[in-house]
Amino acid sequence: MSELLEQRVPDLGDFSDVEVIEVLVKPGDRVERESPLITLETDKATMDVPATAAGVIQEVKVRKGERVSKDSLIALLASTGGDTVKIPSLSETVVMAKPAADASTQLLVIGAGPGGYTAAFRAADLGLAVTLVDRWPQLGGVCLNVGCIPSKALLHAARVIEEAESMSAHGIKFQAPEIDAAALKQWKDRVVGKLTAGLANLARQRKVTVIRGTARFASAHRAEVTGEDGRTQVIGFEQCIIAAGSEPARIPGLPDDARVVDSTGALELAGIPKRFLVIGGGIIGLEMACVYDGLGSEVSVVELTDTLMPGTDRDLVRPLEKRLKSRYAAVLTGTKVTGVAASDKGLTVTFEGKGAPKPQLYDGVLCAVGRVPNGRAIGAEAAGVTVDERGYVPVDRQMRTNVPHIFAIGDVIGQPMLAHKATHEGKVAAEVAAGQKSAFDARVIPSVAYTDPEVAWVGVTETEAQVLGRKLGRGQFPWMASGRSLALNRDDGFTKLLFDPETHRVVGGGIVGTNAGDLISEVALAIEMGATAADVGLTVHPHPTLSETVAFAAEAFEGTLTDLYIPRK
Ligand code: NAD
Repeated sequence: MSELLEQRVPDLGDFSDVEVIEVLVKPGDRVERESPLITLETDKATMDVPATAAGVIQEVKVRKGERVSKDSLIALLASTGGDTVKIPSLSETVVMAKPAADASTQLLVIGAGPGGYTAAFRAADLGLAVTLVDRWPQLGGVCLNVGCIPSKALLHAARVIEEAESMSAHGIKFQAPEIDAAALKQWKDRVVGKLTAGLANLARQRKVTVIRGTARFASAHRAEVTGEDGRTQVIGFEQCIIAAGSEPARIPGLPDDARVVDSTGALELAGIPKRFLVIGGGIIGLEMACVYDGLGSEVSVVELTDTLMPGTDRDLVRPLEKRLKSRYAAVLTGTKVTGVAASDKGLTVTFEGKGAPKPQLYDGVLCAVGRVPNGRAIGAEAAGVTVDERGYVPVDRQMRTNVPHIFAIGDVIGQPMLAHKATHEGKVAAEVAAGQKSAFDARVIPSVAYTDPEVAWVGVTETEAQVLGRKLGRGQFPWMASGRSLALNRDDGFTKLLFDPETHRVVGGGIVGTNAGDLISEVALAIEMGATAADVGLTVHPHPTLSETVAFAAEAFEGTLTDLYIPRK
């Protein structure tokens, strides 16, 4: 039987009667040893109280806003085995010190998304004293809190429902799912909570000072950080990394109504609207359309341009478009929304364009028409940092802005707005700030739409090549010839590789189908390593896997493929 451990407030040194500003766990939560249970705040410091052992929380004994002292009972934890740790006096290990007015740091990082926290952690590992500022209580930025991670949890739920449904034609029938949106939301929040708590732990282990508040430059070496309570503290810095991210764009004229949401609101899962309109057929719009379709909404998508996911090779988007058209109430391309009027009955939306229907009534509307950088929100002018007319901060390959000791990374410096781009840029900025000669020199950055089917691409696209008049070699493998894909009850995908016709080096590739987002990494690696078609085709891939299709596409180009019959030219 597992041991029940009392989790108590450790020695707080000179502090007592300290406010609990965050309770990070609830009954049923699984925690790791040393993962944070609660956050305390004094006038000098913010500190997490960690668990003494790994286990499952049985009862939580404190509430947000309560005051605690040494030995106050926080929670009862059923240990799942492993060592317990004695928590030393927090006053000695305070890592989230709240700098007093005019505190200073070697490196200030503004924004704790994937770019910002990576930069902060890398810089701390390289020996810099780092202060990381974010307006949100949890680290992780948009990606972890209201973007990539929660959307993937909900997409998984949608996929489970659709896969179960699709087996009904093949001998396994399930009842229609009963969806408890509140419980699903809780699960999604727990996924996010584990990751953000993990980040807080990583910051603590690295002695990165974390401050909650909104930062604005006051000069080239000082920033003002305003907390939720309106109080402002000034932080002096030797160097700074701007990782302030982006915000959802809005189209003008949308009513201020709870039924009209952006991606953050859609991920809140306040309910499942019967009729759901997605404005914007880009990645966010289509991912959320897949979520709500899986959860039972009758989905419509309206896209301004003539195609879904404009800019992506048409052949890659086609299988997705076909599936969406077969499931959704409408997929309206070349159409724009001219008005949304809220009433008790719902949201009446009017359209204009070649596919425009008459006004339609919806129960929910998602606006996903792009994101705008936060370059204008940080008082960059006070530091002399250039921000362009669209709100982006220009940088060089070392991520330096026009002010050499101030760097910028991630969404705020430009497209593509992708977490994995930001993390790599964050490492470069941190290394340069620590005196290394790093530079961002990735040849390619993969893109993935985690729709159903997933669409992923990397490197040169055929669309770009056509515009540039560049000749490409091409190898393609249809998944209807992949045993693994058929065994997954799907045959709608394909893998294509694009080659330099002279050298046979891989220069690009695209995959549409189950797990395309995972499979594209091999193509990215091939491009980075300068691999040729023969290198990829002669690499032994495990059978039966979807990854084989990458090798088969290379073989198709080389003329050595045996899994299909391709007549010689
Ligand atoms: P997006 O730019 O990819 O797509 C927005 C779409 O909305 C475009 O197709 C555009 O033509 C359309 N649009 C614009 N105005 C419109 C209007 N008035 N009516 C109808 N359609 C209109 O933007 P997004 O999907 O909001 O994503 C924002 C950013 O976040 C992108 O840079 C994206 O790469 C990134 N993101 C990436 C992922 C991922 O990697 N899986 C997931 C989410 C977001």
